[in-house]
Amino acid sequence: MKKIIFVGAGMAALVAAEKLARSGKYEVTVLEKSPKKEISYDWHDDVDRAAFEANGLPMPREGTYFVKRNWTFIPPSERTETTLDIPEENLDLSIERRPLALQYIERAEDVVDFRFETQVDGLIFDGDRVCGVKVGAQKLYADLVVDNSGALSKLRGELPEDSGVTKAPAENEVFVAYRAFHKSVEGVPAPQSTNRVYLKHLGQAGISWSILDPSGAVNVLVGRVGSLQKESFIDAFRALKQSNPNISDEIVRGGVIKKIPIRHPLSRMVADGYVAIGDSAFMTIPMIGSGIRNSVDAACILADVILTKDSLSVDALWEYQVRYYLMHGADHMGVDVLKRWLLAADPDDLDWLFEKGVVGKKEMEAGATGQLIRLSLGDLFAKLKKGATRLPLLLKLNNVLMRSARAARIGRRIPKTFNLKAICAWQRRVERLYLK
Ligand SMILES: Cc1cc2nc3c(=O)[nH]c(=O)nc-3n(C[C@H](O)[C@H](O)[C@H](O)COP(=O)(O)OP(=O)(O)OC[C@H]3O[C@@H](n4cnc5c(N)ncnc54)[C@H](O)[C@@H]3O)c2cc1C
Repeated sequence: MKKIIFVGAGMAALVAAEKLARSGKYEVTVLEKSPKKEISYDWHDDVDRAAFEANGLPMPREGTYFVKRNWTFIPPSERTETTLDIPEENLDLSIERRPLALQYIERAEDVVDFRFETQVDGLIFDGDRVCGVKVGAQKLYADLVVDNSGALSKLRGELPEDSGVTKAPAENEVFVAYRAFHKSVEGVPAPQSTNRVYLKHLGQAGISWSILDPSGAVNVLVGRVGSLQKESFIDAFRALKQSNPNISDEIVRGGVIKKIPIRHPLSRMVADGYVAIGDSAFMTIPMIGSGIRNSVDAACILADVILTKDSLSVDALWEYQVRYYLMHGADHMGVDVLKRWLLAADPDDLDWLFEKGVVGKKEMEAGATGQLIRLSLGDLFAKLKKGATRLPLLLKLNNVLMRSARAARIGRRIPKTFNLKAICAWQRRVERLYLK
């Protein structure tokens, strides 16, 4: 029987490993460096419920999730606030990460060989083909290695240069985030809106948020692009506390700094004997770094491609990347163009766009869910409140929206079959979009 090794027990591995092993056609092993009881994160995160419903996967267990409340977006000046009004049935679920991971591990344990506290140190090669992994002095051979080891995967960097797989994200393609749940200050009222996101907080490239948790604690995030300097964190936390006086210094959960990719997906996710999935393939929504739904969708695509093609060859696996791009990747290419512009934009311009109604609920919802913002120059003018000008800014925004739509179109033109020459040419077009 052919062997598949997953490196990292992320959600993608848990879903795909179960499907592949249950088919009875593959011997599947998942190698995870953490102990089982410390798997994933000790907090809850927001997940589009379609991740489960559309893929026919079990919902998280009762009591391990709640329906998230609508975001309130706050531009840099903090003079305006925009609260979305997504109906409850369409809102994401805030799911406890560890119980969800354990639920999916238990579901797969009868068919998948899980090895916890097993750190993979590198890949092994037969010529240019990946043929297994190194765990200490041990060599574990496989017909396919699926890299689910996260944004900073070391394995990706070991692939041969001509595999076409990007080795590491650029500094500005990673979001460094402090995440903690702080005890509420007793007797101090919380702000009226519950899920408060500060865009370009204090004019810096990144966001902060303060979310009143149903537990009564305050869920705090301070994330900056590239790096989170101690001084930036102290300033941001102090400012958050000023506008949300219910945040105390006492941490009840979390309190860690993590890295999240915020860029377009890998332009090559498959190599001979190797597939990247989840954060290691940069499958997050570039605007906000959510990646659970995308990685679960990708896992279902990967398992389906392998099982229907009954092949682990790079030509066969290319279809996995094609289907992922058509489902999410091409749109995320467009969102990445817009995100880069927003990060570089003058905070005063962002305030103006919010205050004059150019950026409204619909646009914020699209950006947060990884969809393209489709506005023509005519639409931009039509949305503008009477008397407002800043023509150069509107032209710039129009230009970036057109570039964003073009990026998504290029993404959708991904070569549909494994033709190396066409793939390399397409990759060059993709990467050129982000060179500036
Ligand atoms: C603070 C924070 C908030 C987030 N909020 C959200 C949110 O609200 N919604 C959302 O959808 N997403 C969110 N995300 C992103 C989300 O966690 C990921 O996109 C998603 O879980 C997919 O990650 P992954 O499984 O690919 O990688 P990871 O979750 O990074 O998992 C990688 C796994 O590989 C293991 N590993 C790494 N290296 C090795 C090795 N060498 N050998 C063996 N094992 C290894 C790690 O221990 C880990 O278990 C958030 C992330 C962070 C950090």
